[in-house]
Amino acid sequence: AAKSAGRGRFAVFDDALEAAAQRRLRLPGELRRAVENGELRAHYQPRVSALDGRVTSAEALVRWQHPERGLLMPDGFIELAEESDLIDAIGCFMLDDACSRMKAWQRRHPGLLRVSVNVSARQLLSGALPTQVRDTLARHGLDPAALELEVTESLLIDSGGDAREQLEELRRIGVSIALDDFGTGYSSMAMLRNLPIDVMKIDRAFVKDLHRESSALPITRAIATLAQAMGLHLVAEGVENETQASQLRGLGCHEFQGYLYSRPLAPAEFSRFCAAATASELAFSHG
Ligand code: C2E
Ligand code: MG
Ligand code: MG
Ligand code: MG
Repeated sequence: AAKSAGRGRFAVFDDALEAAAQRRLRLPGELRRAVENGELRAHYQPRVSALDGRVTSAEALVRWQHPERGLLMPDGFIELAEESDLIDAIGCFMLDDACSRMKAWQRRHPGLLRVSVNVSARQLLSGALPTQVRDTLARHGLDPAALELEVTESLLIDSGGDAREQLEELRRIGVSIALDDFGTGYSSMAMLRNLPIDVMKIDRAFVKDLHRESSALPITRAIATLAQAMGLHLVAEGVENETQASQLRGLGCHEFQGYLYSRPLAPAEFSRFCAAATASELAFSHG
């Protein structure tokens, strides 16, 4: 009996593997259709001021509303998209959604200063991004200062001079540049020195281990010192509890992003979150 039960388990396991393999094979075609059929969604995660908890900005994060499998997270498809021109369509959709939402939110939520959009290596190195950004901002009548683009540290290391040139052109438009997942990409101090960036985002991995007897705290402190020396705005991602928030505040972090404040939200929810946050601030200051 044990033997047949064992075999049964393997059969189930095989089926699951088989199904996963099948899904992977179908993914590129499905993703292409998803883009065409409007199944992509942008969700927005609040970033709050370390000083007073106000919502100061939002990061746009892509989701795929799959007709059968529900809401899919980018980890399952963004890498695949980056291997082809699919990432251009996704990037284009995200930039457009972020600029159009931001234009509407600015009126409703005056404290909201910026929206940030993730940009992949392929998009940045294609050379088409500055024109695309300029056109999208113009189409929505959005001030360039209200847009931030996030590039990862590893992207800049791998692509060197070409990436820098693109970033400089983007900055001339007036958008700001954030270095995402900082601390995971082994940049050299020499490279960092002349990088055209405005914001540094400490990777979640360091924030997660701050409370432990680990190197996370001294490394985070070093990153904070570096950001300060370079005159950069410092954002911590993955802030999940008050202990982390107060440690990071002590280190001079300017903005927090993480589940302690909110998960990424659908646009309507994000707007409600901002309204509720403002209402409670008002109640606090008048009460
Ligand atoms: P990222 O740009 O570093 O985004 C932050 C990720 O951390 C998001 O995951 C967010 O949901 C998650 N996060 C935020 N706060 C917390 C927290 O307190 N705890 C934990 N455990 N996680 C937190 P998400 O949305 O799954 O995105 C994953 C990655 O996919 C992003 O990392 C980014 O590299 C990529 N990505 C997302 N949207 C886009 C896009 O539109 N274009 C490109 N090129 N990449 C994207
Ligand atoms: Mg990001
Ligand atoms: Mg990040
Ligand atoms: Mg990341």
